[in-house]
Amino acid sequence: MPPSIENTPSSDCPVQTFRARDLTITRSTNLKPFSDPRTMIGSSTDHMLKVSWSSSTGWGAPEIVPYAPIPLDPAATVLHYANECFEGMKAYRNKNTGKIQVFRPDLNAKRLNMSADRIALPSFDNDEFITLLRAYVVVEERWLAWSGNAAFTEADESDFLYLRPMMIGTTPRLGLAKPNDAMLLIIACKFPSWHSRPLRLLASSPAETVRAWPGGFGFAKVGANYGPTLQYQNHAASLGYDQVLWLFDADKRYVTEAGGANFFVVWRTDDGDVELVTAPLEAKTVLDGVTRRSVIELVRERMPDIRVTERQFSVDEIAAAVDSQKIIEAFACGTAFFIAPVGEIGITGRDVKIPLKVEGKSGVYARTIKRWLEEIFYGEIDHAWGVTVN
Ligand SMILES: *Cc1c(COP(=O)(O)O)cnc(C)c1O
Repeated sequence: MPPSIENTPSSDCPVQTFRARDLTITRSTNLKPFSDPRTMIGSSTDHMLKVSWSSSTGWGAPEIVPYAPIPLDPAATVLHYANECFEGMKAYRNKNTGKIQVFRPDLNAKRLNMSADRIALPSFDNDEFITLLRAYVVVEERWLAWSGNAAFTEADESDFLYLRPMMIGTTPRLGLAKPNDAMLLIIACKFPSWHSRPLRLLASSPAETVRAWPGGFGFAKVGANYGPTLQYQNHAASLGYDQVLWLFDADKRYVTEAGGANFFVVWRTDDGDVELVTAPLEAKTVLDGVTRRSVIELVRERMPDIRVTERQFSVDEIAAAVDSQKIIEAFACGTAFFIAPVGEIGITGRDVKIPLKVEGKSGVYARTIKRWLEEIFYGEIDHAWGVTVN
C-alpha cells in the first residue's frame, strides 16, 4: 500500500486517546493588543493547546492555556532523536456567514497520527483531535479579520490564521528508545498572504543530496525531513532561486517535490491529450498533501477531459516538453504556498522557462484550481471540505 494519509496505525486494542470532553480552558488575562489582526503578521496568538501522554498513564486531560514557553529537560528525546511531527493548516472566515472554517481537518488528523507512528510517538482518536482543534480555533477567533469590523477591506479577502499542531517526545533520558512521554500541542500564528511572483525552482543534484528516499520517511510530516534541506535551500537562494525542486535517483532524475510543497506539471502528451502529472505516493518519497489530493480530486471531477496521472517522471521530460512546446504549465501546492505557479526551473545549468499565460503570472489551470479552492476555503460555496468550527 502507498504511504497515504489513510494508512493510520493499526492496533489490536482500542485506541488510547485524549478526550475533548476533558478539555479545560484558561484564558489569557494579557491579550496582545491590536484592533486589526492583519497588523499582527509574524505573531503567535494568545493561547496554545496542550495534552501530555505517558506510557504508564496514557493521555492526560487537554488544556487550552495562555501561550508560553514549555519546560523541556535538556535530555528530552525530541532534542536528540528528533521525535517531532507536525501539521500545517489554515482557518478562514466564511465570507457569507462570518463563521470560521477549516479545510478537510480529518486528513490532517489522520496524517498527524501516521507521522507520529513513524517516529514511535503515541496515537489518538482523529475525531477527538478535530473537536479539540475546533475549540482552540474558537478561542482564537479574534485573530481572523471580520467583515463586521470597520477596518475590513478587500485585503481581507485572503486573510487566514495558520495552525500548527505538533507532537514531541519528552522523556528526559538519553538512550535510544521509544519515548515514554510525549506532548501534543496546537499553536497558531499570523502569516502574510501569499501573493507571490511565479516561483523559480532549482532542480537539485541527486548525486549530491536527496530530500527523501524509498524506505525512508519523506512521506511523513516529521521535523527530521526539513532541517537537513536548508543547506541546499540556501544554496538555491544564493543563486536567485526561490525553492529547490527535489529530484531523486541520480540516473533517472525523478521529480519529487518543490521545497515543502507538492509539484504538478500540465503538458500535452504524444497522443495530444492534456495531462496533469505529479509524483506518486508509492515510492514513499512524497508527502500525501491535502492540497495535492484536493487538486487531483477536483480536476478529476470538474475537468473530465484532462488526464490526471500519478507517476514517476523526470526533470529531463520537463526540459524535453519545453523544447517541443508541449509544456503547458507547472505549479507547486501546499497549505503554506497554496497554489504557486512556477515560471522557471534551473536544470543542470540551464534555466528552462515555463509558460505563464495569465498576465505572465500564472497558468490557466493553476488559476482555475486556485479559485475553486478559495471558494471552498472562504465559504463562497457550500462544500463538505469546508468544516465550520463555531
Ligand atoms: C506539508 C507539506 C506538503 C503540503 O501538504 P498540504 O497538506 O497540502 O499542506 C507537501 N510537501 C511537503 C514535504 C510538506 O511538508
